[in-house]
Amino acid sequence: MSFQIAIDGPSGAGKSSIAKAAAARLGFIYVDTGALYRTVALHAIRNGADASSPQDVIPLLETAKVALKHVDGAQRVFLNGEDVSDIIRTSEVSMGASAVSAIPEVRAFLFGLQRHIAEENNVIMDGRDIGTVVLPEAQVKIFLTASPEARAERRCRELLERGEKVDYEQVLRDIIQRDYNDSNRATAPLKQAEDAVLLDNSALNFEQSVDALLAIAEKSISANGGK
Ligand code: C5P
Repeated sequence: MSFQIAIDGPSGAGKSSIAKAAAARLGFIYVDTGALYRTVALHAIRNGADASSPQDVIPLLETAKVALKHVDGAQRVFLNGEDVSDIIRTSEVSMGASAVSAIPEVRAFLFGLQRHIAEENNVIMDGRDIGTVVLPEAQVKIFLTASPEARAERRCRELLERGEKVDYEQVLRDIIQRDYNDSNRATAPLKQAEDAVLLDNSALNFEQSVDALLAIAEKSISANGGK
């Protein structure tokens, strides 16, 4: 049986980079499920759809073939054969992803893909509903969070490094808005699974966060008699 580590939490807690580093140390595959929602949002935007409108988005699912591949341990996401891994990182697509992810049909559309990868591989999978909905039987569940201000600061640093313009107040507002959307939607809202371990990394740097996550994971791995 595969070994599954589910990591959920709000945007900007560093889930992706922390989970990616932890996966490399464990020799697991890292699956970033946010990229899947972003890909559906990109497809909707490209087709001139309102990402928050189920009537617009649901019919478009028929023409969206979403696939994940792992190349040298790094995840790449494909939309109808095109590698869109990099172009799904804009603010427009982020807001679009938050909107399409509230549509139950979109979640159902991406569910099988996520389950399949986790059944075939030892995974660290991150998202919003991994421990609660996608992999409720995961051997390790972690809810990784940080204060909105700590997350906004990190996001600003990332944008600056990429040479993009930064408005801290706007970034903070976007984070609070996305938290609200993700936590208050009717389908699969962001919430800590009852059996998840809470890890607040507001005061931790990157390496300390990876170590803290691995310490939680390794305890469960040995309790489960190894991988
Ligand atoms: O993690 P990331 O910020 O890339 O996710 C983009 C959006 O996709 C989130 O704001 C959230 O609304 C949605 N999402 C989700 N369920 C997941 C992963 C992401 O609803 N498992």
